[in-house]
Amino acid sequence: MFDCNYFWRAISIHSDGSLEPCCHFNAGLEWTATRIKEDNAGWIAYRESKKLTDWNIQNSNTLQKIRKTALDGGVPTGCSPCVIHEKNGMESPRQKGYDTSADYQPPAESEKQILRPAEYIEAMDLFMNNICNFKCIMCSEDFSHLIAKEKNIETPITNWGDNEPHILEFMRRAKNLKKVTIAGGEPFYNTSYLHKVLEAILPRAKNIKLTITTNGSNKIKQETADMINQFKEVNLAISVDGTGKYSEVQRSRSNWNIIKENIDHMNEILDTKDVVYLYFNSTITAITLPDLPHLLDWANKHPAVKWVHPVFVAYPEWLRCEVLKQEVIDDVKDKIIALTKQKDFAFTHPRCSEQIIKNLENIKPTTKYREQFDNYFEDLKAKRGLDLYKELPQFKDWLM
Ligand code: SF4
Repeated sequence: MFDCNYFWRAISIHSDGSLEPCCHFNAGLEWTATRIKEDNAGWIAYRESKKLTDWNIQNSNTLQKIRKTALDGGVPTGCSPCVIHEKNGMESPRQKGYDTSADYQPPAESEKQILRPAEYIEAMDLFMNNICNFKCIMCSEDFSHLIAKEKNIETPITNWGDNEPHILEFMRRAKNLKKVTIAGGEPFYNTSYLHKVLEAILPRAKNIKLTITTNGSNKIKQETADMINQFKEVNLAISVDGTGKYSEVQRSRSNWNIIKENIDHMNEILDTKDVVYLYFNSTITAITLPDLPHLLDWANKHPAVKWVHPVFVAYPEWLRCEVLKQEVIDDVKDKIIALTKQKDFAFTHPRCSEQIIKNLENIKPTTKYREQFDNYFEDLKAKRGLDLYKELPQFKDWLM
């Protein structure tokens, strides 16, 4: 059986209230841009079919179908990200699992049933809404209502709507929760939502490992910090991809000085000694790659930043590092190798430094995406006044 612990003990709730077993699941992959264009009614029906139809959340139609497919010996369509990872010899989220602790007991065979009690759910990924104060260049309307507004989408804000009280009630009933991941939108931009979620799980905070993804642009209030500090363990993943202008170009509407101040404030207000592990989740694109050595150096010297997790962007294609010249990539590689040789460099774990070097060695510069890159930045200039070559003139020489 194509088995996965997420099928039986996990749930992922999207900003529109739709449900999936995990945040990697992507049943929409079969809906290519061409297919959506040709069969728009079918696409709308597909999206509607994912939404909650009753309040039996952990046994929604979608989750029941996925469990049935697995029990019948099939592979749920949305599990293709794991299938692809495994085919390419990489560890998939399914293989890694949602709990890597040594004392984790995987579900017994008798537990693998289509209907699951809420009390058995151990892991939950939550996308609360798409309300965000940024318009990052690699992001979409699903995660930023400002991008939705820019695209003239009729209802730019997506949230749980009428499902909200039922989702919160489900969280209160999920007494075995051990891992909760919260993303947005930007959780600290709209703290009323965040507080509702935290309050629902707070009675079991001492059992829960919490992860919150934030863009770091909002000052965390004392009230919020007091709640966060009560959890067993908290990973605060700050989406910082570069320093200075590199950060500000990639994360449109951001201000690097404010982010720096907020990181210092987080270190003061949160229990970074015993509870909160603060790290950077860095999206590396062609725009931020040249600054990566400096970002690593900056993070290494910051007393609160414990880790940098770089993720090389695959989509949109025109933001991939392949649009940069080989000499730019080589220069980044040389600087990072020099950095890792410094005695005081802390991010020496293979998942950081070795992985970066391996990724850089695999980049094959190409002119294939140059036209799309140029068109995209022309569009951003017209819509947002974002002038790449004015902000970062070096790019005139760095592109293929
Ligand atoms: S197989 Fe992969 S995509 Fe499917 S539920 Fe498990 S972790 Fe998620």
